[in-house]
Amino acid sequence: MKVLTYIEHGKFALTEKPKPDILDPRDAVVRVTLGSICTSDLHIKHGSVPRAVPGITVGHEMVGVVESVGSAVTTVRPGDRVTVNVETFCGECFFCQHGYVNNCTDPNGGWALGCRIDGGQAEFVRVPYADQGLNKIPDSVSDEQALFVGDVLATGFWAARISEITEDDTVLIIGAGPTGICTLLCVMLKHPKRIIVCEKDPARIAFVREHYPNVLTCTPEECKAFTIANSDHGGADVVLEVAGAKDTFCLAWDCARPNAIVTVVALYDEAQTLPLPDMYGKNLTFKTGGVDGCDCAEILALIEAGKIDTTPLITHRFKLEDIEEAYRIFENKLDGVIKIVITP
Ligand SMILES: [Zn+2]
Ligand SMILES: [Zn+2]
Repeated sequence: MKVLTYIEHGKFALTEKPKPDILDPRDAVVRVTLGSICTSDLHIKHGSVPRAVPGITVGHEMVGVVESVGSAVTTVRPGDRVTVNVETFCGECFFCQHGYVNNCTDPNGGWALGCRIDGGQAEFVRVPYADQGLNKIPDSVSDEQALFVGDVLATGFWAARISEITEDDTVLIIGAGPTGICTLLCVMLKHPKRIIVCEKDPARIAFVREHYPNVLTCTPEECKAFTIANSDHGGADVVLEVAGAKDTFCLAWDCARPNAIVTVVALYDEAQTLPLPDMYGKNLTFKTGGVDGCDCAEILALIEAGKIDTTPLITHRFKLEDIEEAYRIFENKLDGVIKIVITP
């Protein structure tokens, strides 16, 4: 089958590999019907994911149809339409039992698909712990509606969940890329008093204004003054940093009011500094990524109920054989791209 392979630092290429088999009774093999490209794929390409293994098939955002299951799989059957979770987790260890599935102690626990084991920019993918990693898509939900459930939308949902948002809050979201917009959609479900989105790209600001007219927007340069002017206590009550740019961690805590919660969703290419003397007395609470992607059933129910819709994020569609061109557009942010659907 055709797959996109991580060859070496800086290089992905379309290659051929055998179709995957069930290796463990808890595995399933899924025929990928739609996949996507995530910024984390670019982080692998750029060498900022040291645990990524050269030679693996990349891709960790996909939906598909169950092709075969191991003897111990109980929740899905061949023929089921499913979302695939970015994270591999056993469901049994201390961390899984507490919902911290990103820290599952299984050797492949956490983000393994498309990083340490073969992923889904392919025609088929083997999913370990299929009872945890797969969720059935309701009949009324399309593949495109469900495509982001297992990764970028799970991330936004988790970020909103851990940020302790109340209806009195002014919430600042830094970054309106795909994860930022998914975070926005999930923050909106908490009905805070105000939401401010900070973004430097005018096209992405225009996207937010067009689709979510009640959300306030600003640029990074005006963010601090804008947030102070549009909040009740001298800064945001909750900040979600989703941009991961050079100065956005600093911007996040700087725009927070004293005793705020700052949730860092971003994955940085470089180390960040925590200048404690500068923030002394602000008494901030920091929460850090990555996603505990264990809410996919709830997210699918919200999509089915019409409360979350990520389909406006889909700006481009490519066939798997043209995925290298899709990467070129995604990596260089060409042509107003937000998310690309890949069809094997
Ligand atoms: Zn991702
Ligand atoms: Zn576990």
